[in-house]
Amino acid sequence: MNTEATKRVREKATCRHCGKSLIGDAYQYGGHAHHPDKGGQVKTCHYGGFVCSVDCDYSTTLKLEGSMPGHNGQVALDFGMRESIRKKWVTP
Ligand SMILES: [Zn+2]
Repeated sequence: MNTEATKRVREKATCRHCGKSLIGDAYQYGGHAHHPDKGGQVKTCHYGGFVCSVDCDYSTTLKLEGSMPGHNGQVALDFGMRESIRKKWVTP
């Protein structure tokens, strides 16, 4: 009996910035993912997608904002967005 073969093949969760493999199904399935090393539930980027660290969160958000119309060449996030990312990653 090969149970691997009977498992439904789903896209796996990965960090939206660095591509790190996470434990869980891909973001579009609507569930949660866990960090393979730290164990805790990974966070999600403001614009969607899993991010494995505060740096990846920041980089993903900046990249997405930079790709929006009128944001060409944006090199930093505004204060409000930086604060919201910082607060999200504060461990209680
Ligand atoms: Zn990452």
